[in-house]
Amino acid sequence: MSTEISVENIRKSFGAFDALKSVSAQCPPGTFTAILGPSGCGKTTLLRLIAGFDSPTTGRILFDGKPVSSPERITPPERRGIGMVFQSFALWPHMTVLDHVVFALRHSHKREKGGAPGKEAMRILESVGLGAFLSRYPAQLSGGQRQRVALARAVAGNTGVLLMDEPLSSLDADLRVEMRREIMSSHRAHENTVVYVTHDQEEAMAMADRIIVMNEGLVEQTGTPEDVYTRPVSAFVAQFVSKANLVPGAWEGDAFRPGGSGGDVRWSGVDVAPFWREAGMFPVRPEQFRFSDEGHGVPAVIESVQYQGRELHYSLKSGDRFWKAYLPAVGRRAHGSSVWLDFEQ
Ligand code: ATP
Repeated sequence: MSTEISVENIRKSFGAFDALKSVSAQCPPGTFTAILGPSGCGKTTLLRLIAGFDSPTTGRILFDGKPVSSPERITPPERRGIGMVFQSFALWPHMTVLDHVVFALRHSHKREKGGAPGKEAMRILESVGLGAFLSRYPAQLSGGQRQRVALARAVAGNTGVLLMDEPLSSLDADLRVEMRREIMSSHRAHENTVVYVTHDQEEAMAMADRIIVMNEGLVEQTGTPEDVYTRPVSAFVAQFVSKANLVPGAWEGDAFRPGGSGGDVRWSGVDVAPFWREAGMFPVRPEQFRFSDEGHGVPAVIESVQYQGRELHYSLKSGDRFWKAYLPAVGRRAHGSSVWLDFEQ
């Protein structure tokens, strides 16, 4: 049971301000889509529209081809067959942890007849690390524990659409990685359509099979994690998703000649979106730089070095530009050194 979500030319204004300017997006049934973008770009606004909490100023949203939101009419959230984990967890103060999940299971669309909700609820709560908190009330839990109750409740609801807004934001790093796994395996088991809002590129890439990258109320790019990471279509996507260095230079056929480079340096065999040719730039991800021989490549000076275990993170200055290079933690160069940077695919 999964649902197709279509967002068609949505604009959402708050007074004179357009939080969403013109947004279209498709979430095919059973897919896991991450909406990724910086703070204030309109992610939550879009998710609230998909949930049915707000109506669009113009445009419409369809579930399985049927309009559920338009400026004239919206189907309320409780009639959309959606589960939600929002930043405010909206737990029920009078219900215990176990009650939350049992309640959701009882109201789940797909509950097997004769199944024992208590046992299933305990399994789900154990999987999110709340096995020891079954009889606590929300007021007796930490922020991270409340977030996990909201997550367990949404998983138990087993709806065709699951909408999540930064559901792991109040968890520590280890638990976040564990919960990612739990969310993904629940998605695989239920084959529901997940829309997941995050500002964390790593989280989006690890979990989603499609990413919608947003900036200032517009969609910049939609694609697989690999697409947006390796083939960004704009300077914003390149910098936001992969922290790419925007190297100026000239295109000569399929090869790029970085500006100010020494030797006969040409970076060839690269597949870039048309934007980069028009802009006379090339996006080099920090892990694609290498130190090369004296006089060969782009000259730069090391401003600082950070040890990161397996890698060294260099901050460099080249002319008036600041760049990043992530290189294997061998052959460390000291800050202040002059180096030559080359590109490696
Ligand atoms: P964050 O990651 O910080 O939650 P976001 O991408 O989810 O950011 P939104 O919450 O969608 O951003 O907000 C988009 C823009 O719309 C922001 O500039 C915000 O101030 C504005 N905005 C959101 N809701 C309202 C509202 N009810 N009235 C006025 N402005 C609003």
